[in-house]
Amino acid sequence: MHLEIIVRKREGGAVVEESLIKEIKIKKPTSIMEIGFKHSEQVSIISEIQSRYIPDQCSMLFEERNICQKCGNKAMKNGKHTVSFHASLSDHKIKAQGYSCKCGWQSKPTIHGCFGSNVHPDLIKIQATLGAKMPYKDAQASIAKFNCSSRSVNNHVKIAEATNKIGEILHTIKTEEIVEAKKESEELYLQVDGGHIKDKGKDKRSFEAMISTVYSPESYRKVSENKNEIKSKHIAASALKDGGETINQLTLKAAKKEGLSENTVITAFCDGASNCWSIVDYLSPYCKKIIKILDWFHIRQAYDRAITALPDYKDQIQSSKYKVWHGKPKEGIKKLIELKSDLECRDFDNSKLDKLTFIISYLSNNLAKLVNYMSRKTNNLPYTSNVAEANVESQINVRFKRKQKMQWHRSNVHNLLQVRSAIYSGEWQNYQASIDMKLVA
Ligand SMILES: [Zn+2]
Repeated sequence: MHLEIIVRKREGGAVVEESLIKEIKIKKPTSIMEIGFKHSEQVSIISEIQSRYIPDQCSMLFEERNICQKCGNKAMKNGKHTVSFHASLSDHKIKAQGYSCKCGWQSKPTIHGCFGSNVHPDLIKIQATLGAKMPYKDAQASIAKFNCSSRSVNNHVKIAEATNKIGEILHTIKTEEIVEAKKESEELYLQVDGGHIKDKGKDKRSFEAMISTVYSPESYRKVSENKNEIKSKHIAASALKDGGETINQLTLKAAKKEGLSENTVITAFCDGASNCWSIVDYLSPYCKKIIKILDWFHIRQAYDRAITALPDYKDQIQSSKYKVWHGKPKEGIKKLIELKSDLECRDFDNSKLDKLTFIISYLSNNLAKLVNYMSRKTNNLPYTSNVAEANVESQINVRFKRKQKMQWHRSNVHNLLQVRSAIYSGEWQNYQASIDMKLVA
């Protein structure tokens, strides 16, 4: 038995063209490799079929161009042109007729001229999702593997452009989106955090990108003794310099999608930074009450830095940490103050003591936001932002800080974060139709 893949074209009822794409003998497979077509064969079959299909579509697309668009006279043929088109899996070059008129009007056939791009929107979206998830060069390598070839349309510069473009579209969609809470949640959790990214601009300093994550108690699940996951959540992100307007609006929308109402009690976790708390405070008119908790993740980090600076005093620093962990922050602070004055008497290196001073003022300034973290953990209640895919580390640091010297344009970071947050909020599919509409507009 043989299998033949044939492309047959009909006009009216009559067959006008028939081409054999592939012929293969059907036989018993001797290994799993022989079941069906190989990956590369699949790509090449699709490519062959497309190359029988796209030229006919193009000749229809360009046929009305033999009428002058300026004076309306019949235009004359003016050479053949090569039209290029990039489908999801294959590149196509088609010969098409150009036209010109005595009045000076000319028409060069291009897909870009007709639709504003010669790349299929599906490919742009694939590039954007990969570009948002991993460094552009890694995305380039991934697409090349999946596509079985290195196409110039998939190089890292094009992937960066696609990510930026889709992110810009998503920014518009999310900003214009009107969200009505479908369900009502009695309780919601909110984490807000920021990450600093090096600026590619003139002054080459850094700017902050903000991330908010909203989820409901049902989504918070234990996966192992020391690990929890958030099954579903909505993430809002912004790197724009707009006084917090975008992040406030997007955080409110994210909360509404999770069921925010006037009856909702929000428990918010933040670092001590005021720009984080101002995002939390923005939600207060829309809910019943906000309970503020200092994020355990940042407290632990501060203690870790102190232990690194003063390894000989690890036990004393740890015992202060345990007091805070068990909801006795005043005792924890007292232990640190004692340790500090003890070390000061011995003329200890000031820069190392600063690590202790930082924790003391960090905790003292946030006393009202300190809780019994241990009992929250025991009761399976959130107490830290350090939960996979929901924290700054996974949303910002992983993508923007892989290389120390990596610098970014603020707007590009913002756009990339729009794609990332849509993916990690499980909303990428919901936005498809709107993205397509804006891509082809
Ligand atoms: Zn003319």
